[in-house]
Amino acid sequence: MRQIVKAVETSLSETADTKLSVVRLKVSAISHLLTHDHATLHATFQLAARGTKVEGARLEVIPVPADAWCPQCQRDVSVTPAHEVCPSCGEPVVAGSTEPEVVLHELVVQR
Ligand SMILES: [Zn+2]
Repeated sequence: MRQIVKAVETSLSETADTKLSVVRLKVSAISHLLTHDHATLHATFQLAARGTKVEGARLEVIPVPADAWCPQCQRDVSVTPAHEVCPSCGEPVVAGSTEPEVVLHELVVQR
């Protein structure tokens, strides 16, 4: 979560004198972040944001489908949030290597 706050701060430094209100993240369906409930995520975010320009912003998480690998079927599959199993055989899948788990999607600032 600290890396996320850092990334947000970097984006914000280009726009001084703005008040950040919302941070939107796209989170991969197989990210460990989605195993936490939203209250926990938000608390972690607030903790990481304390003392930074990000402090006080609201966190919004947008779960997105992810590429994964099914060891049973030996093929790439796509999994959707809250359903991280192979669509063919129902076995657990492993994360694909290419996509980042978390992407900074959008920052909403008040002017
Ligand atoms: Zn499978």
